[in-house]
Amino acid sequence: MGSRKETWVSKFGGTSLANYRQIQKVKDIVLSDPRRKIIVVSAPGKEHAEDEKITDLLYSCHRLCASGKSFDKPFETVRSRFLEIAEHLQVGKTVKDELQEIYERIPEETEPDYAASRGEYLNGKMFAEYIGAEFVDAQDVMFLTADGQVDETSYGKTAEAFSDPQRLYVLPGFYGTNPEGRIMCFSRGGSDISGAVAARALRADLYENWTDVSGILMADPRIVPDAKVVREITYREIRELASIGANVFHEEAIAPVRKVGIPIQIKNTNDPDAPGTSIVSYRNIDDCPVVGVSGKKPYRRVIIEKFMLNRYPDFYAMTAKLLNEVGLKSDVTISGFDAVTLYIDTKLFEDVEEIQERILVELDADACAVSEPLALIGIVGEGTAVEAGLLNQILFVLQSFGISPVSVTSGISPLSMLISVPVDQYEHTVSVLTHEAALLRSNL
Ligand code: ASP
Repeated sequence: MGSRKETWVSKFGGTSLANYRQIQKVKDIVLSDPRRKIIVVSAPGKEHAEDEKITDLLYSCHRLCASGKSFDKPFETVRSRFLEIAEHLQVGKTVKDELQEIYERIPEETEPDYAASRGEYLNGKMFAEYIGAEFVDAQDVMFLTADGQVDETSYGKTAEAFSDPQRLYVLPGFYGTNPEGRIMCFSRGGSDISGAVAARALRADLYENWTDVSGILMADPRIVPDAKVVREITYREIRELASIGANVFHEEAIAPVRKVGIPIQIKNTNDPDAPGTSIVSYRNIDDCPVVGVSGKKPYRRVIIEKFMLNRYPDFYAMTAKLLNEVGLKSDVTISGFDAVTLYIDTKLFEDVEEIQERILVELDADACAVSEPLALIGIVGEGTAVEAGLLNQILFVLQSFGISPVSVTSGISPLSMLISVPVDQYEHTVSVLTHEAALLRSNL
């Protein structure tokens, strides 16, 4: 497709729009490529680490008001931040009046959603004016089900509202209308969902997601400060990384675009030339079998043994029922020939011995071993199940760094290998594995 005909949906997060200087950068980015047609905005986020996000301040306003207290203090911060933006960008002649209207309406609302949504609403309106675009209120095009999910009618309404390919539009993220006709917000960080819905509605060629990092990192930077950015990652890999503990892209925001295969490009507003990360349906796994390393702790590993387990087809259902009764939930379950292995959050255990006893008696098990707390680490990538020699290499590197895994499991998922280590070896192991995985790849 020729580039002039392409349509991109570009979403900018709270830090990208935290103040007028950031908003100026965003304007330059938006106008630098005519393929950017629908701009989805968050509310202004934190300018400095000690600041509060506008959305948090608005939630505080509702909370204070609902408990009969004055909400003037957080509201004045909201007011002054918007007025500062309006003044510097010379926009928003009506923003003063609108802020006053919001201030007066907050006490009338029983739910926090109206207040919370106003950060995106005002930011969207002022930004549209600043870049000369048409503002489309999310209230009119984005619909949520009663439980806060995307209502399918949003796709048709959004496509209709953004139908002129010659125009530039701004859509505030995070909120829409619920079945009762009231404003309702998605879960926190939900502007990503609004952007994904708009991208799918328009069958966009690209969904850009602008933030304050240059893409998805191979590991948590608090553990691996020099973790590299991944250039390309599949939707499935993102999901796997998140399941094993990584704080990556909002899963609900991937679902709409994954369905129709629209790539997501993560970009950094403060470093727009950095290539970022592409989230795609398929990628070439040659030379880059692993995209990341993530983990969770602490877990207890529970191994339940039963001789001739395959003769007891009800065993799994009975195990699940018993776990439920004692308040346990297994995050990872691995079936062996005569044993089942479960990894369960240590916090859920009240009395290990009592649980062991119940498992032995009620499941008529031969043995039930519960480990000391462990960390579970996933080495994630489309290539982990197919790359011959990867397991050997990982075991070799762990050994050479003096790490003795308690368990190594390969092949239960096509996308990951799982390793468990004592909790005090968690950070060290994640760091060793991330550096080793980076050496395997040209995808960085
Ligand atoms: N402003 C909302 C939040 O802080 C939504 C978003 O930024 O995506 O959660």
